[in-house]
Amino acid sequence: MQNQLLERATAKRDSLWHKKATLTDFAEQLKEHGGFYQTGWCRDKACENALKEYSATIRCLIPQKEFKVCFRCDKPSEGDILIAKAY
Ligand SMILES: [Zn+2]
Repeated sequence: MQNQLLERATAKRDSLWHKKATLTDFAEQLKEHGGFYQTGWCRDKACENALKEYSATIRCLIPQKEFKVCFRCDKPSEGDILIAKAY
C-alpha cells in the first residue's frame, strides 16, 4: 500500500513532489495546494503530531537520507519521509 502510494507520487513528482527542509518552508504550500513533501524526521511523535494542524500526515518512510535535520525540531533526521494531506 505504501509502495503504491510512493510509486504514484514518484510518477507525478514533477508537479506534486517537493523537497523541503523545514515545516515553515512548506506549511503554507501544503495547506493551499496539497502535494507531497520529502523532508527529514527525527522519529519523534511530537513532531508528527504537529502536522495535524495542517490536516497532514506522514505517509511513508523513504529509503534515502537527503535531509540531515528533522522538519520540525533541531534533532538529527533518522531518514527521509513523505508528508501529504490526509484525505
Ligand atoms: Zn523532530
